[in-house]
Amino acid sequence: MAEERQTLLRELPAVDKLLRLPVTVELQAEYGRSLTLEALRTVLEATRQAILQGSRTEAPTHALLVQAAHEWLKALLLPTLRPVINASGVIVHTNLGRAPLSLAAIQAMETAVSAYATLEYDLEAGQRGSRSLHAEALLRRLLQTEAATVANNNAAAVLLMLSALCQGREVIISRGQLVEIGGGFRVPDVMHQSGVRLVEVGTTNRTHLRDYEAAINENTAAILVAHHSNFKIIGFTAEPELAELAELAHRHHLLLLYDQGSGAILDTARYGLAHEPMVQEGLAAGCDVVTFSGDKLLGGPQAGILCGRADAIAQIKRHPLARAVRPDKLCLAALAATLSHYLTEQAEEQIPIWQMIAYPLVRLGETADTWAARLQEQGIPATVIDGVSTVGGGSLPGATMPTRLVAIAHPQVTELAARLRRAATPVIVRIQDGRLLLDPRTVMPFQTESLLRTVGTIVCPENVI
Ligand SMILES: *Cc1c(COP(=O)(O)O)cnc(C)c1O
Repeated sequence: MAEERQTLLRELPAVDKLLRLPVTVELQAEYGRSLTLEALRTVLEATRQAILQGSRTEAPTHALLVQAAHEWLKALLLPTLRPVINASGVIVHTNLGRAPLSLAAIQAMETAVSAYATLEYDLEAGQRGSRSLHAEALLRRLLQTEAATVANNNAAAVLLMLSALCQGREVIISRGQLVEIGGGFRVPDVMHQSGVRLVEVGTTNRTHLRDYEAAINENTAAILVAHHSNFKIIGFTAEPELAELAELAHRHHLLLLYDQGSGAILDTARYGLAHEPMVQEGLAAGCDVVTFSGDKLLGGPQAGILCGRADAIAQIKRHPLARAVRPDKLCLAALAATLSHYLTEQAEEQIPIWQMIAYPLVRLGETADTWAARLQEQGIPATVIDGVSTVGGGSLPGATMPTRLVAIAHPQVTELAARLRRAATPVIVRIQDGRLLLDPRTVMPFQTESLLRTVGTIVCPENVI
């Protein structure tokens, strides 16, 4: 026994010998000498262990060893940031990257990074320009506001706004708005980090104008209003209108700052949803600065947008933190392209998340019927049922939109969902009542064939040829 193992071990080739094989030379050209060497050593060591433990009883061929090394190299370099198919019906899915971009936004990014660009260069003057110019003019026009600037996300925008405008002073906020948004963004923590003293007023469910007024003193810099985001207080509730707060703030020479969050610029009520507070409403109500995300309901790249009064925005731009949280050229290119869709009234046609929100129920039904028929042809018991999609991204908590779902009943749905997640192009599904649910609303049209192929193969393995 032990002798056989020793013989097998002696038959294993030296790593140098493997390195000289023509196939390995090819591997080195593709992956570099150092990684290839590490791959071969790893494979040889694993084989040695397998022989010693008795789980391998014959010597592997050289070809087999090199093939294993190739697999190791491929796995090592497989990107961890991979495309997935979102069949969950959650439109702005934070864990899946929020908003997919429009074609124009993708092309704008490609153009901006394929060569040098006018990121901070004024072509007329032949000298240094400002990177914040690129989206600003569009934002001013679109939102009918005096000024705007961009940070790399909305958490940074809020931090920057408070640091630049209120550092060392008091900021009043309702207890009902001291919320935590996904990913550890807690309104009170951000306020603390920006060096302002937080003054809480009112109660969790009810805060009145007089509560704010009673908290104002000579150290007060601003009133902050934060969108409740992904949570909702229902029942016995009260909060003053933004316009009332603006009047109160301005009467006391204070700022009214509004973290609107979702970036809704179109009215969600037009699509049968509840009305999500809009950026324009905040500005019209008299807020001095409004901040929001670029990749939630705006449907653009990750960004934090600050807009409002010219003097406040100018002060924000001058603060040292502005440099630390500035957006890059990819972001600015995609943001400008996304904003153009709104200006030309083509948001619903061009921006994926608005296409999804506006997807007519009849067409969702037709798509679901087609998918179910295709799956049935492969012997999969797919049916079409009524269900709901959600907007997600911290907007419209609890609000749903009617949809048509492809439902697949199966005794091991949890196992199936796990295998779908592990597919070459992973599919993210919902599970309910022992059924696997696919919502056509959030599946990008170009991913349809890949989705049906993956579901067909995994749900019905005997179909694989
Ligand atoms: C989403 C959200 C944030 C955080 O924005 P990011 O762009 O994710 O950094 C902050 N405030 C509110 C109200 C939000 O909804």
